[in-house]
Amino acid sequence: MQTTAIDIQQNVPLAPFTTLLIGGPARFFCEIHTESSLLEALTFAREHNLPIFVLGGGSNLLVSDAGFYGLVLHIVLDGPIAPVNRDSRVEFTLPAGIEWNRFVLSVCEQGISGVECLAGIPGTVGGTPVQNVGAYGQEVSETIASVRALDLETLHFVDLPNQQCGFAYRRSLFNTTHRGRYIVTAVTFRFDPSRSPHLTYADLTRHFGEAQPAPLEIYHAVRQIRHAKGMLIVEGEPDSRSAGSFFKNPIVSRETLEHVARTLRLGAEEIPHWPTEEDRIKLPAAWLLERAGFVKGYVLGNAGISSRHTLALINRGHATASEIFALRNAIQQKVEDLFHIRLEQEPVQLG
Ligand SMILES: Cc1cc2nc3c(=O)[nH]c(=O)nc-3n(C[C@H](O)[C@H](O)[C@H](O)COP(=O)(O)OP(=O)(O)OC[C@H]3O[C@@H](n4cnc5c(N)ncnc54)[C@H](O)[C@@H]3O)c2cc1C
Repeated sequence: MQTTAIDIQQNVPLAPFTTLLIGGPARFFCEIHTESSLLEALTFAREHNLPIFVLGGGSNLLVSDAGFYGLVLHIVLDGPIAPVNRDSRVEFTLPAGIEWNRFVLSVCEQGISGVECLAGIPGTVGGTPVQNVGAYGQEVSETIASVRALDLETLHFVDLPNQQCGFAYRRSLFNTTHRGRYIVTAVTFRFDPSRSPHLTYADLTRHFGEAQPAPLEIYHAVRQIRHAKGMLIVEGEPDSRSAGSFFKNPIVSRETLEHVARTLRLGAEEIPHWPTEEDRIKLPAAWLLERAGFVKGYVLGNAGISSRHTLALINRGHATASEIFALRNAIQQKVEDLFHIRLEQEPVQLG
């Protein structure tokens, strides 16, 4: 095994490592370039009895103002994006620190379909299985073949096949049943090169009409649509200082849907909703926020709601984590009082 000297830094501000640009310092911080340096950094943490936190691109993260009294492992494992042909499929095994959008672009440039709708999502490859990243009708669970990870219980590297990852809407075993147990070091994606893109999402079918676009055309269209919605990180744009959608779309019972309808004096069929598993119903969180008075451009101190996307809470400039918490709490309380629905926060909270 390759050995490296690890560089443990102290009192490193975490805000610049997050897309919200918010958060206090990490007591200890280490960049992880190799699997062996990951093991060394863990030894340091265990010797000093420190909790650890795994940081990717910081795009699904809200760090408290106090920061984190522990060791932050910044996953920057890098390597080539090289396709391998296997049994009429194309596979890519990627180190976890590769920027997700770089990979999507590379796959689309090769004319391969499977991740084109996930263009423009910030963060790292290793972050994508954690919440089963999804957008515009695609999820990474459709193309992930396996995930390589360090099992913190045994300190052995394991290869978890897709079926063992517990993928569901914004969920996997990495953020539910086995949260904190695995550190992802590589992900293998598998594509059927004969498959053509299948567009299901209204914004995209409207955009292309009857045309049969290539993956690269879809890549660019998705980025354009995301930009219009403030869901693309663009340097200097205030709506970019977010952690993406701040609330998950709630999955509720039919009684709750009927309660929402009664509260708003609407028929249940007038409320946008989709059936999900076991007779449950998914409601759009953004729609609920708007009905509760939290509209685009809403301001609370230095925190606010994006002017282009109701679900994105933003740092309007110099916001603290406390200000984001205050806005989050106000939204959750009002939505719960009105609709009896407790909205679940999507970004991970540290400290
Ligand atoms: C503008 C914007 C748009 C977005 N749009 C979408 C979208 O359309 N769909 C969507 O699903 N998400 C979206 N997101 C959320 C976010 O980009 C994804 O969840 C992304 O995959 C997070 O990856 P990351 O590397 O930034 O993870 P981080 O934010 O660094 O970490 C998030 C969580 O994953 C864990 N983690 C990260 N890397 C690893 C690893 N290697 N091993 C183990 N655990 C790890 C962290 O410990 C933490 O718990 C958006 C965010 C922003 C800011």
